[in-house]
Amino acid sequence: MFLKTAVNSVRFKITLWYSFTLLIALSVFSFFLYNQQKKALDEYSDEVIAVKGEDTADAIETYLKTRSGEGNKKKSGFLDRKFFESIVNNHMQDPGLVSISIRIADIHGDIIANSANMMQIHGISREALAESMSGNAYYETLQLNSGNDKIVYYRSYTTPVQIEGKAAYIVQVLKPLHNNRLAMKALLENILIFIPITIMLTGFLGMSMAGLSLKPVNDIIRTTRQINAENLHLRIPAPNTRDEIRELADLFNEMLSRIESAFLSQRRFIQDVSHELKTPLTIVKGEIEVALKKTRTEQEYNEVLKSNLEEINRISRLVENLLTLAKLESSGNEGPSPEINPNDALIQAAGKIKKLAEAKNIKVELDLSPEKLQVKANEMQIISAFFNVMENAVKYSPEGTCIRIKTFPSNGGFMVDITDEGPGIEPESLPHIFERFYRADASRSSEGFGLGLSIAKSALENCGASIKAENAPGKGAKFLIIFPQPQAQIKN
Ligand code: ADP
Repeated sequence: MFLKTAVNSVRFKITLWYSFTLLIALSVFSFFLYNQQKKALDEYSDEVIAVKGEDTADAIETYLKTRSGEGNKKKSGFLDRKFFESIVNNHMQDPGLVSISIRIADIHGDIIANSANMMQIHGISREALAESMSGNAYYETLQLNSGNDKIVYYRSYTTPVQIEGKAAYIVQVLKPLHNNRLAMKALLENILIFIPITIMLTGFLGMSMAGLSLKPVNDIIRTTRQINAENLHLRIPAPNTRDEIRELADLFNEMLSRIESAFLSQRRFIQDVSHELKTPLTIVKGEIEVALKKTRTEQEYNEVLKSNLEEINRISRLVENLLTLAKLESSGNEGPSPEINPNDALIQAAGKIKKLAEAKNIKVELDLSPEKLQVKANEMQIISAFFNVMENAVKYSPEGTCIRIKTFPSNGGFMVDITDEGPGIEPESLPHIFERFYRADASRSSEGFGLGLSIAKSALENCGASIKAENAPGKGAKFLIIFPQPQAQIKN
């Protein structure tokens, strides 16, 4: 279980990728290093045997020229063999070149002189002989079975000694490649030991470093495990850095704050609903209990039933309001809405409010923009939003006042202004009046539940509009409903 978790951890995966990348990088590097080293060693060997070969050929050439100048050609065969042997052995004096062997052959490839350390190898090859006869130097790699089935490799350089433009003798220098091969083998062994050790070491270090870098992630996991409905106030410790983990922690904390406030508002909502339901239910229960204590007259039963009906009506209005709110809040994704004219919706809402207004002798004045306004919205929702705002205006305004409803273009969209001549809204209540169940103290005794404006707000937000409240200069409350472009348009 622990192993499975460790293998699936980001830390392990990062280390694995890192080690894999390092393995590839080191392998490529070692491959080049190995080849470069091999090339350098081979070139060095070739250079050493070439210098030796040319030196020897030059010495023979000089000697032969001197001898021919002295007219001593006849004795040359006998003297030459001695001379060649001395030349070969002279050139072997250099202690740095002990492993090098030299041999001199005639133009038929027959060996005239050998250095003392010359291995028993076959004669000069046909290719080397042919190239020498054409006046060219020739490199080749020779194989020699040195007994015990052991193959020894040699590098040879064959060059002609030329007299009057013609090859007279052949000098061949040989160097065993044994040391080169040993050096390359040692290098390869070192590479094969170094790469796994380096990868293991860096993997181990990388794993510790990744662990350090990812520590804040573990803190996030630990804190997240502790968060539940009871301690939504907990926040993730943000690391003191400016990296993605810090950004993630900040975003996570912001999200937690949003969830916390949504959760608290939901809890408050349930408390408010319970409270609103409890009062009428307590009244109904109390009245029935009192009525049942003894036999009552018909009139008394009537009074109790009437009072109960009032309370039940209140409960049913509350439930209706709650249902409307719930529907509005869940109807955000209902497909495209048809285009409606908000002036028509205002006329319909004003028509509905007229009876209430007339009962209080309140005038409703409509001043609608002559342009053809269009908005994509659910007509019933818009009418109910306008109605709720107008109903408040009537509810909170004294008798004999006036409610003014205006529409006018604004910033490519348009606005609706509903102003009354009532007492206005207390400044401390202004930021809260759109909250569910909010009622200013002055309106506590009224019929309302404090849901009218939150229903209006949800309905308007569903069609891309917004609503704000302020106090009209002088006296009264002013509600401004803003329909911005592109949801709302003016068509002439
Ligand atoms: P209610 O059912 O209490 O009217 P609303 O959500 O409609 O609930 O309004 C919330 C509060 O806003 C009201 O209790 C009232 O205090 C205040 N309010 C709303 N409209 C007006 C208005 N036109 N004049 C004064 N106060 C208002």
